[in-house]
Amino acid sequence: MQTIGHFIQGKIHLNLEQNKLPVFNPAIGEQVSQVIIADEHQIQSTIKTAQQAFALWSLTSPAKRARVLFKFRELLEKNLERLAGIITQEHGKTFADAKAEVIRGLEVIEFSCGISSQLGGQFSDNVSTQVDCTGFRQPIGVCLGITPFNFPVMVPLWMIPVAIACGNCMILKPSEKVPSASLVLAELLQQAGLPNGVFNVLQGDHTTVKHLLAHPEISAVSFVGSTHVAQSIYQQATLSNKRVQALGGAKNHLVVMPDASQHEVADALIGAAFGSAGERCMAISVAVVIGEDNANTLSKILVDKINQLKVAPGDQSDTDMGPLITAEHLNKVKNYIQSGVEQGAKLVVDGRQKTFAPTNTGFFIGATLFDEVTSDMSIYQEEIFGPVLCLVRVNDLDEAITLINQHQYANGTSIYTQSGQAARHFSRNIHVGMVGINVAIPVPVAFHSFGGWKSSLFGDHHIHGEEGVRFYTRLKTVTSRWQTAGIASSEEHSAFIMPTSR
Ligand code: NAD
Repeated sequence: MQTIGHFIQGKIHLNLEQNKLPVFNPAIGEQVSQVIIADEHQIQSTIKTAQQAFALWSLTSPAKRARVLFKFRELLEKNLERLAGIITQEHGKTFADAKAEVIRGLEVIEFSCGISSQLGGQFSDNVSTQVDCTGFRQPIGVCLGITPFNFPVMVPLWMIPVAIACGNCMILKPSEKVPSASLVLAELLQQAGLPNGVFNVLQGDHTTVKHLLAHPEISAVSFVGSTHVAQSIYQQATLSNKRVQALGGAKNHLVVMPDASQHEVADALIGAAFGSAGERCMAISVAVVIGEDNANTLSKILVDKINQLKVAPGDQSDTDMGPLITAEHLNKVKNYIQSGVEQGAKLVVDGRQKTFAPTNTGFFIGATLFDEVTSDMSIYQEEIFGPVLCLVRVNDLDEAITLINQHQYANGTSIYTQSGQAARHFSRNIHVGMVGINVAIPVPVAFHSFGGWKSSLFGDHHIHGEEGVRFYTRLKTVTSRWQTAGIASSEEHSAFIMPTSR
């Protein structure tokens, strides 16, 4: 059986005496490899390696750093299908969706190639006589990235290129469920000319994270995962003065106005709710439909479309939806469906009833549709992270806005309408970090920033784009005086009062 190791100081490390975890192919429901869990000693030595690399990398000019990223981008494009194949095997999503994920990650590399223009600061001439003031941004040190299972390439690439373009070193702790892609990223970065030690991968689980967070030489932590872990990581890491951006879970609503095209909405909902089997932090899991007639019509169209979905292994070309990530997660989703029934929601399509070939041992479930869902139900309150779409019926747009604003999660939301006025009212009054107008999954492009509000993000900075550059750099402001002969200085005597501009 293949064993997946760490990548430290430019080399794969396979210490077979370390503890291991199984890695599954969810489409066949079987273990296909094992991943090693980094122990405390390995963690300490990796942080030391990254610290040493930081001394040189932070001094390398932004232009030279960008050249490595240009090359990395080219190599990633060449390895697109290889990476997508790995994602499909370990995660289960369709090959086409896996390719799209890699391309979204590649766009962050493209953004990072131009980061040097964002590192320049502010210069103010002669703020006092013969005194100038310069502000500029410097890297912060060794950064830690902790990533979830659902985007094995895209989410690490939200972090890696931005951090290293800004002059930092990075240690990535990928999800133990999808560990292989991270090693390909490391290999390609090395081929692109990244000096050893600037990017390292430590495999492991929560125990690995615990040791990493305890280390004083980790300056910043970027986390993406579930909310309870995000909040706990934010609390632990900020206690030791680390900078933290911790992106958590979601429950994303799509508001359907009466003037929206029902067929367009249904297509958007099917893709956004059931793509990647609902295992996306920007998946739409609640449709908030205005008006009873609209809701009745939409529900019928959705049923027809759900019945046509092909649920099968992600490496089959016409698959719409692959399996869930693990057997435990499959059970969790089934339990949520049961709780919806018990709490009084109307189960319109039951994905548990979908039949698969007897030889199919993967973690599959069909798409599920609930109608007449109310805000007190667990299927509404909690993130299911599976192919379950809830329809909530409301009377008007303000009722929809109030409902969404009361939810603990605030990652993404969307409105479908022909009315500019309704769209503007919605986008200005909704308390959610990312908003779509006739766009079901409003994931911002790489040069904007990604992040939710409330329980969907702990910390002050969203990820990538300008916010990413701010997160991975800190501002320094230099006030300097160079006297010109013959011109009186602004400070002539010992000053016992606060200096003011002269
Ligand atoms: P998870 O929280 O279980 O794991 C994420 C990472 O944290 C993994 O690397 C894991 O090893 C580590 N981890 C798990 N438990 C930990 C603990 N107790 N202490 C320290 N580290 C721990 O999340 P997941 O199941 O891999 O991913 C799915 C979740 O991620 C969903 O909630 C989804 O909404 C969220 N997500 C959010 C975004 C976003 O941008 N907001 C993006 C993708 C996924």
